[in-house]
Amino acid sequence: MSRVKEESKFLLTYKFRAYPTVLQEYKLENWLFVLCWLYNYALEERKKVWKEEERTVSYSEQQNNLPKLKKKEPILKFVHSQVLQDTLRRVDKAFQKFFHDLERKKKGEKIKVGYPKKKPIAKCKSLTFPQVWMKQKGKLVPIIKLEKENNRFAYLHLPKIGKLKIRLHREIDWTKAKTVTVKREPSGNWYVCVSVEVDLDQILKEVEEKVEKRAKAVGIDLGVKHLAVTSEKEFIEHPKFLQKLEKRLKREQKKLSRKEKGSINFEKRRKRVAKIHERIKNARRDFLHKLSKYLVDNYDLITFENLDIPALIENNRLAKLILDAGWGTLITFVTYKAVMAGARVVRVNPAYTTQICSVCGQKVPKTLADRIHKCPVCGTELDRDYNASVNILRKGFTHLTGGRVGATQTEACGEGNGGALLKGSVSYPSLKQESPCGSSGWGDNPLPEVPSVRAE
Ligand SMILES: [Zn+2]
Repeated sequence: MSRVKEESKFLLTYKFRAYPTVLQEYKLENWLFVLCWLYNYALEERKKVWKEEERTVSYSEQQNNLPKLKKKEPILKFVHSQVLQDTLRRVDKAFQKFFHDLERKKKGEKIKVGYPKKKPIAKCKSLTFPQVWMKQKGKLVPIIKLEKENNRFAYLHLPKIGKLKIRLHREIDWTKAKTVTVKREPSGNWYVCVSVEVDLDQILKEVEEKVEKRAKAVGIDLGVKHLAVTSEKEFIEHPKFLQKLEKRLKREQKKLSRKEKGSINFEKRRKRVAKIHERIKNARRDFLHKLSKYLVDNYDLITFENLDIPALIENNRLAKLILDAGWGTLITFVTYKAVMAGARVVRVNPAYTTQICSVCGQKVPKTLADRIHKCPVCGTELDRDYNASVNILRKGFTHLTGGRVGATQTEACGEGNGGALLKGSVSYPSLKQESPCGSSGWGDNPLPEVPSVRAE
């Protein structure tokens, strides 16, 4: 896997739906099988050598042994050699994490330390081409080519797999592509994740130029009645289509529970349930991507409340709504899109944003049921959430002028910080590079979707 050395560069991951032919699917399944075998073999080898010789086998040792292993196990030859190497690197990473965790535990940190475990085939779902470009006689030559079919579709020329059709739902600078991961979801659908190198300095420069121009600012109240209400009087509804899909999901899950585990009918139902899960996930993502894009395209300063979402979920009967609404995901999406678009994101302390009168500053206590803010002092009557959004925006300004421009302490949300655009304080979600398609990437937690900086 290519490492990005310069500090100002980081990787964004783009995910595209892939449509392998029957033959390609057959090949990919076989590759996953072979790679799974290799993963477990490499793991066992390390274990064995440690037991017998008390020494650690390194990545390069295992890589150098690949040709020999290929002679012994010719099936390995079906798989592209760099993809094999990437699997060995995954093993190496698993061990590095293990040793790292061990150190932390020794220092007294309360963490679970797990010895790297063998993977069942069901968990071997992705394979990675760790290099898209290579140098040849001083020139960059593509190992994997991208060929556009039309505005919607393209072909990836994968070595030993052939032309893999993908839905190119967005533009991508192929010259900056670093790795390609092919992944099968539980539903049986295939996806391709492409990591692309981005230069932070370049982005920051563009951002600074933009910020110097007159900024348009907005405060956003995330709520239960509406997903979001802005200080520009925009009322954004919770997407209803998700509720419909969820009803279907419940029905299908009931049917599944009546089937005998392991039977053909069970497997059929299981796939159907997985497909609906995937549709919900994709529909929610899609909606939040559009909404976050709208926000960063239209506003230069975007202010959210600094909500402790995990705590809210634990303590609140509104938990399901919060999860469905994907507040955390929305904030994350806005935050990283803001970096690219030259907008600034601030998260402010949520104390009293609902109560304070946005016109005169009077505290007006409310219950959850009070939908209207009625100020006894100045007589203002406003929608409760709109009133809050104006207060949130005001706090955002105070926050900025208070000199603490930058990421707010939002670790409570467990998903990246409020974004800021000053160098040094820019926060972009984890730069983890192992399995860019992994579910924990800009994957789906703690609220659906978050991760390495994933732009889709
Ligand atoms: Zn008032």
